[in-house]
This record gives sequence, structure tokens and C-alpha cells, in this order.
Amino acid sequence: MEYRKILENLSPYKPGKNLEEIKKEYGLDEIVKLASNENPYGTSPKVLKSLSEIDILETYPDNYCTKLRKKLSKKYDIPEDYFIFGNGSVEIIQMISRILLDSSSEAITCVPSFSSYWSEAILQDSQIIEVPLKNYKFDLNGILEKINDRTKLIYITNPNNPTGTIVTDIELNNFLAKVPNNILVVLDEAYFEFVKNSEYPNSIRLLKKFSNICILRTFSKAYGLAGLRIGYGITSPETILELEKARVPFNASFISQIAAQTAIDDTDFVDNCIKRNKEVLEYLYNELDVLGLFYIKSEANFIMIDVKMPSEIAFEKLLKQGFIVRPSFPKMDTFIRVSIGTMDQIKKFINALKNIY
Ligand SMILES: *Cc1c(COP(=O)(O)O)cnc(C)c1O
Repeated sequence: MEYRKILENLSPYKPGKNLEEIKKEYGLDEIVKLASNENPYGTSPKVLKSLSEIDILETYPDNYCTKLRKKLSKKYDIPEDYFIFGNGSVEIIQMISRILLDSSSEAITCVPSFSSYWSEAILQDSQIIEVPLKNYKFDLNGILEKINDRTKLIYITNPNNPTGTIVTDIELNNFLAKVPNNILVVLDEAYFEFVKNSEYPNSIRLLKKFSNICILRTFSKAYGLAGLRIGYGITSPETILELEKARVPFNASFISQIAAQTAIDDTDFVDNCIKRNKEVLEYLYNELDVLGLFYIKSEANFIMIDVKMPSEIAFEKLLKQGFIVRPSFPKMDTFIRVSIGTMDQIKKFINALKNIY
């Protein structure tokens, strides 16, 4: 077969080893996965109950996600034609790349950030222009300097994955005022539910002022539905119309639509997860201070820790003790990203971390 040349520059997404394999290999009874920023408190019991009541699966799902759309439209007070749904928000990133990027155009973002921006751009024969983070934060002025005639798309990850830092309301407004409005600015807010900082932008309100922004949100993180794959984009109806052309039909499954609808209503569950996340994060800060390890203060449900050794080595040392974290971020060789697990998990993690020195 003669595959596209561009594929030589890509490798398949590595989800990490299977937990059972690792247990066997290292003789472990228990493994704590702190690698994918999943919700350590599980899924809302109300959502699980709604799923157990599903009895029709032979028909295709509602291609328009009508009920979920109505719920979100009400929740945010935004017209229904501002929404698009995806098999996870990564699928929206794919649609965005499909409608904007080709060999004659470029996207800009900061590095390190979310890897799907790169893979989807490369598959379009396009490329990502990389701007280094500044003090571990998105460098919006650095991005402005890179804008040229080829620029069609900018990704702002807010909070950023992997650093957990935010772009403030003032910074974002100043930035958007300077970006030509034929460039789509994607505000990837996969972790927005976790942010309690008063300087964090209310991006929904910005939709009125800037027609060229697209907000991405997901049910995978705070809502604990990563296994179902459902996320959404919010942008102008004009852009939605183009995105719809690039969307695979019936991409949001019937089951994920039901789960998301129920999840939105169970605000107690999400609020509680967010509260506990903050408590564990504060505990972790304290312990890391005692250990004398540098970390980046996080607005999300993960933290970057400088382990003062190549991150892959720390990864192995932690894995042997039953903890999976994320190493190997570009330009941050000695940092590991650790998801904020439960208090019990993080207490054990701190012990494992002590053992590696
Ligand atoms: C986890 C994550 C996503 C997407 O997750 P989905 O499960 O596809 O909705 C998007 N952006 C960032 C920055 C993430 O960390």
C-alpha cells in the first residue's frame, strides 16, 4: 500500500500499558492511575441509574442531540444553534482542523499543550507553529507575534494541560481584541469546572463580543464520563454550519447523550468532586513543600512536579511502586504530571515519591 507520506511523522496515540499487564510484570496487587486526569470519585450514581434504564439500542441516535442541546442552551443562556457535539472534545478538534487547515495554512499554540492539536493538524498536511510557554503560562503576546497570512487557527488551552495555569480575563480580552477576526481562536476549557480563580474569563460572555471564538468543553473530566466519550463546542452559528459538514453522522452515541443529560442535572456530584479536588491539591502542595520539590500551582485536577531527574526515570521508579503518572512533556524534561486522585491515593503517592530519592 502507498500510504500518505505525512503518516511517517505520526505515531499512534499511546494510552499506556494495560493495568493487568503491569500488575503481573511488577508483582503488584494494586495500581493507582494518576495519568489521564480522570475523576477519582467515579461517575454520578444518578447517571449510572439512567444508563441502567436504557432499553432501546437498535435505532441510530438523535443526530442533533436535541435534548442535550436544549439543556446546555438553557444552562448557558445561548441559542441552540451555537452548539456542536463530539465523540469527546477531541473529535471537535478534528472537525475544526478539517474545516480550517490544509497545506497552505497554519495553526498556532503554546508548547507543551494538548497533543491532539498537533496530530490533527499534521493529518491535514498543515502544521502547528509553536510558542514556548512563559513562566509555565500561555504566552499570548508570543502568539500574536507569530500571526501571519497563513494563520487560520489559534488554540488557547485554559487551564493549560499539562501546566494547570490559566489565562486571565484581562489577558484574554486584550489578546482577542488584537487577533484578526478571520482567525478562529479555540478556547479549550476541558478543566473549566475546576477553576475557582476570580480572574478566570467567563468565555461564554465573550461569544457576544468576539464571533471568532470557539469554546470546547467536555464531560470527560469533572463529570467523570471519560469512558463514554462526549464533549461539545460552542461557537457562532456560521462556524457551526461548516463544522457540521466535517462531522461524522451519529457521532454522539445514544448512551452518551443520555448520560450527559443526566450529568448536567446532578450538580451536587460535580460540586463535591471539585471541592474534594481542591482539598487534596492543598494537601499535596504542603507535602511537596516539605519535600522541597518545585511544582506549578494548578487550577485544574492535575499538577506538574519537578522531580529533579529525567521524567522517564521517575516514571519507572513510581511505576514499580504501583503509581502511573505522565512523563515526557516537550521542553519540560524533569517534570511529571500527576492527576489529583483521592486523599488516600495521594497520601500513598507522596510516600512513593519520597522513596525515589
Ligand atoms: C482531556 C482533554 C480534552 C478532551 O477530552 P475528551 O475526552 O476528548 O473530551 C481536551 N483538551 C484537553 C486540554 C484535555 O486535557
